[in-house]
Amino acid sequence: MSEGKPTLLVIGAGIAGVTAALEAAETGAEVVLVEREPFIGGRVIRSYNYFPKMCPPTCGMEINTRRLERNPRVKVLTSSRVSAAEPNGKGWKVTVTTEPAFVNSRCTACGDCAAACTTEVADPFNLGLCKVKAIRLPHLNAWPKRFVFDRAAVGDDEAKAIAGACSYGAIDLEAKATTATFDVGAVIVATGWKPYPLDKLADLGGDLQDVIANVHLERLASPGGPTGGKILRPSNGEPPTRVAFVQCAGSRDVNHLPYCSGVCCLASLKQAQYVKDQYPAAEVTMYYIDRRTPGRNEDVLLKTSALEGVRLVKGKVGRIEQQNGSLKLHVEDVENEKVIEAEADLVVLATGMVPSAGDDDLALFTRKDADGFVLDDLGSAVTVAGVARRPEDVASSVRDATGAAARALVAAGRRA
Ligand SMILES: Cc1cc2nc3c(=O)[nH]c(=O)nc-3n(C[C@H](O)[C@H](O)[C@H](O)COP(=O)(O)OP(=O)(O)OC[C@H]3O[C@@H](n4cnc5c(N)ncnc54)[C@H](O)[C@@H]3O)c2cc1C
Repeated sequence: MSEGKPTLLVIGAGIAGVTAALEAAETGAEVVLVEREPFIGGRVIRSYNYFPKMCPPTCGMEINTRRLERNPRVKVLTSSRVSAAEPNGKGWKVTVTTEPAFVNSRCTACGDCAAACTTEVADPFNLGLCKVKAIRLPHLNAWPKRFVFDRAAVGDDEAKAIAGACSYGAIDLEAKATTATFDVGAVIVATGWKPYPLDKLADLGGDLQDVIANVHLERLASPGGPTGGKILRPSNGEPPTRVAFVQCAGSRDVNHLPYCSGVCCLASLKQAQYVKDQYPAAEVTMYYIDRRTPGRNEDVLLKTSALEGVRLVKGKVGRIEQQNGSLKLHVEDVENEKVIEAEADLVVLATGMVPSAGDDDLALFTRKDADGFVLDDLGSAVTVAGVARRPEDVASSVRDATGAAARALVAAGRRA
């Protein structure tokens, strides 16, 4: 770290964390960016397209990875977590622990190791919807472009064969976890979100095969997903002809998440377009309590609702059950003041966003709101960016991240 420059720690390298790190580094600050996954990009790069422009999120992320490659002031630590943090008078002393790097930076992503690997594991990038080799590139556009090795899944003989197949000496079977400590002037928490779990939504068929979450549909529609980009019913691999989107699945509900996740209406409207693009004759129905599409995102609502075969029904879905080969939905139709039954062969639950910050028990995350989202604590030089602070879309997360970078620089400057 260079003399006289503020040093910041950014936790989480989703769109918010990467933006905050770059904005701060481009003003001259030194930044340590810590990401627990082996690649950067967070939840956004698991999307097929993103509203409002409906373009692949990898484009925007590629611009950011080029900025990172050009900027020596950002130190990116993937497969890493902050394992300890304590105030040091001028900011924080943090310890970062990095998982064993069984594949090191000599990896060229040539794939020879994967050819020697027979063990398969559930694919974390595809949310466990398919299997992948135990040694693999985490996803097609992964940055850093380096293989990861699920060493624990593989026996010793196979591990030796895999290491032997690498002609670059990039596989180190003896690798151990490492730790590093940093004194930083301020911290930006950008730990984002995770989806509300389907298994808590039994009334809405969360345990039924053809009831999936919105995050699953993103992977089904993606060319790098488990079906090569085809939206298919998980139960039989057939194209769906009647697709129902159920809004506020566990959201705005005191029994689950009391708050609105802010983007689920738009996510479903976007996903209805995915379905109609693939299956123009499909019937798509979206059951909603309120349609929340503020600002220019209203265009997504207008475009989707104008599509032939798309219906938007103001109604609360109370129960979903399997009925022979299809799904039966019990809906309170609010405008017609009656309870109706409807059928679908694929249901997409618009589940909300749960803050990830609770996953790690660190002093840095102690100031939170009633829903578990992290709050700025400028007195302690902690600022928050993106969905770690509140549910929001990508554009808002990026704006928020720029603001967090500025606040963190001011906080660090006051203590220098
Ligand atoms: C189904 C769905 C579809 C969506 N589609 C769109 C869309 O089309 N357009 C749009 O604008 N918005 C969309 N959104 C919203 C979008 O996903 C969020 O705005 C975006 O993910 C916010 O980015 P983030 O960086 O705050 O969080 P995240 O994307 O969650 O990134 C957080 C990062 O922090 C890392 N992390 C977490 N905890 C730790 C830790 N303790 N240590 C180190 N690293 C950690 C995570 O691994 C992750 O990489 C959608 C949301 C949903 C639910």
